[in-house]
Amino acid sequence: MPANHQPVPCDLCGNRKPTPFLEATDQKTGDPEHRLYLARCERCELVYLSPRPDPDVAESYFRAVYTGEKTGGRFTTYYHDEEIIRAKNEARLDWCLRDFDTAPQNLKVLDVGAGRGHFVKVAADRGCKAVGVELDQAACDYGRGHYDVEMICATLETSQLTPESFDVVTMWDLIEHVESPTSVVQQAVRLLKPGGKLVVRTGNVDSWVFARSPQQWDMLFSGHTYYFSPTTLGGILEKCGLEGFHVVNAKKIDPVAPRNGKPKKQTRSLTERIAALLRDPRRLMNLPHSISDEVRFYRFKRRFPSTWSTSIMLAEARTPARSVSAAGIEQSATSEN
Ligand SMILES: [Zn+2]
Repeated sequence: MPANHQPVPCDLCGNRKPTPFLEATDQKTGDPEHRLYLARCERCELVYLSPRPDPDVAESYFRAVYTGEKTGGRFTTYYHDEEIIRAKNEARLDWCLRDFDTAPQNLKVLDVGAGRGHFVKVAADRGCKAVGVELDQAACDYGRGHYDVEMICATLETSQLTPESFDVVTMWDLIEHVESPTSVVQQAVRLLKPGGKLVVRTGNVDSWVFARSPQQWDMLFSGHTYYFSPTTLGGILEKCGLEGFHVVNAKKIDPVAPRNGKPKKQTRSLTERIAALLRDPRRLMNLPHSISDEVRFYRFKRRFPSTWSTSIMLAEARTPARSVSAAGIEQSATSEN
């Protein structure tokens, strides 16, 4: 660890002395000189970058990765495939709204870190009153101009949205990027109606994918400050006054790139996998090897609890039916001082 950097206190429990956990190369740039230092809080298990990367370096890498400059173009399709983005956001909205017993027209949805407004557009088309909050001015302008959706160029704190006005607040791949997840979740809770729902998508450091090869985990990236587990993400949501924390495997909800013109589910049934094998003789030749791989991974995976098979989490929790959000925020503000 670089000697001139101070460790960062834990955002969940305030512990000032996190323990070094993992040193690795940024997996999105692959630049061996660009080292990441992950620390783990021994009190609450939160894993995060400590010390933090130099902000200027992190920013330049962040831009470079999303423009494809540092990745040989690997991420240049980030925004480009409209059809698959639409399909993903439709599936995500279905999941968010699945347990509301009222029409979408009666629901107000806020997407935080809304990017170009893809999810906001899908929610608005479904009939929801939908708003996006996004820091990047160009992304906001794109959403307004291209999709005609309501975009606020601000942080949650500066957005001036009305407290207790939203039924659903979503954070797609956002919470791992922010400086303080607790304060972002507190702001979201403030905006949720009593009984409203927060939905968060992020990676799971307690997954078998991480355990199998920690230093090659593709989530390891200087733009990702936090590496949550169900325990630590649930801890933050509960600390902010949310209840009924629930996690599912995000990959079971997101469809993948369309095949034969139709978006396809990421997970395949046994029948589909056998059919794919029979279509491709080369796969049949490789079958003994594939089966031994499957058996090896199955043995590896079954040593862990069920959420360990979840490399990307989709989590939800709700505000209590009677509002205590204001009290929760006051309490947290006091404990920070
Ligand atoms: Zn902690």
